[in-house]
Amino acid sequence: MSYNNELYQQVILDHNKNPRNFRVIDNPTHSCHGINPLCGDDITVYLNVGDDNTIEDISFQGSGCAISKSSTSLMTAFLKGKKVEDARVVFNEFHRMVLGELDPEKEENHLGKLKLFTGIREYPSRIKCASLAWHTTIGALDKKSEGISTE
Ligand code: ZN
Repeated sequence: MSYNNELYQQVILDHNKNPRNFRVIDNPTHSCHGINPLCGDDITVYLNVGDDNTIEDISFQGSGCAISKSSTSLMTAFLKGKKVEDARVVFNEFHRMVLGELDPEKEENHLGKLKLFTGIREYPSRIKCASLAWHTTIGALDKKSEGISTE
């Protein structure tokens, strides 16, 4: 991983050890359970979306590898206060970035801090670990009550 490897490692370790928004929201407007059977990552994302489509609160619970946990933690911190439509735009950009279809250094995007995960595209088996949080959040927004699986 050539892209800012040291910073990447630090952020992963930090968020894995001290995940942000790691709690349950009582009576969330949206929630979804997501699994990545390939690795064993298992998370539930909770959201409170206001009448104006702002993500007023977002949290998660679950277990998994350091990449899935830190990606979910970073995502919750990133999405809190954002509009649902902006979350969908960033989901799309994040997904394309980890698949190697979007180079955040060359193409305009809204990824900000999430650009740290750009190096994951060199590790195909870990892409689903990084993207599980996003698939689960979109599943919650789309009211996928059956949950989502990366398989
Ligand atoms: Zn994983």
